[in-house]
Amino acid sequence: TNRKLVVGNWKMHGSHVANAELLQGVLAARPFGCDVAVCAPFPYLSEVAVTLAGSPLLWGAQDCSAHEQGAYTGEVSAAMLAEFGCRYVIVGHSERRAYHAESDQLVADKAKAALARGITPIVCVGETLAQREAGETATVVKRQLSVVIHALTHCIGEIVVAYEPVWAIGTGRTATPEQAQEVHALLRAQLAAATPHAAQMKLLYGGSVKPDNADSLFAQPDIDGGLIGGAALKAADFVAIVRAAG
Ligand code: 13P
Repeated sequence: TNRKLVVGNWKMHGSHVANAELLQGVLAARPFGCDVAVCAPFPYLSEVAVTLAGSPLLWGAQDCSAHEQGAYTGEVSAAMLAEFGCRYVIVGHSERRAYHAESDQLVADKAKAALARGITPIVCVGETLAQREAGETATVVKRQLSVVIHALTHCIGEIVVAYEPVWAIGTGRTATPEQAQEVHALLRAQLAAATPHAAQMKLLYGGSVKPDNADSLFAQPDIDGGLIGGAALKAADFVAIVRAAG
């Protein structure tokens, strides 16, 4: 089975002081039995990079531009992130799809821009509550992933996929391990049709992962780790989830 990956998505939280404290708390739990990363807000990334240099705690960004460079006020390119040693970038988080109207195609273009600079995109997919209740879960996540598969062609095996049901994000309402596994198996099968590397790819679950539900989620055969929001802001909680992953 795959070495698991646990990624903290700090979203728009933090400060110099809070970040330093949080990182020290996580670093104190070394050695890790799985791959671990934190995705911090842009202004803090260079500071996080310095703090984590030489440690096994990797770091990433929460978004990047689909463009190489140019007149795109407010955007940050994958090349800029790569200069600082960025390893991961979250693309297509449901909050960006919803609040910034990011399309499947834009998300795919961002993933492509990241890979072109050697950064692993963590591509998020997931259905809303209305879509789940309408029985559209499989259709929605497959459509979201298919655009990325089409855009990346032979590089698709290099991405990380995060299944984050929108109704489970920040709600305390976690998908059951069975619900998550069902979707992960669908996504794995879809990837297997596109790349011989599907079995080794990391498929993360995100949405109210907490220390008390991480074990049962990570025990599922197609769940290779987690993308953690709220619980990534408390060192003790994040470390407990990292421990559950290995
Ligand atoms: P929560 O863990 O706070 O539900 O957030 C999940 C998420 O959106 C991670 O990207």
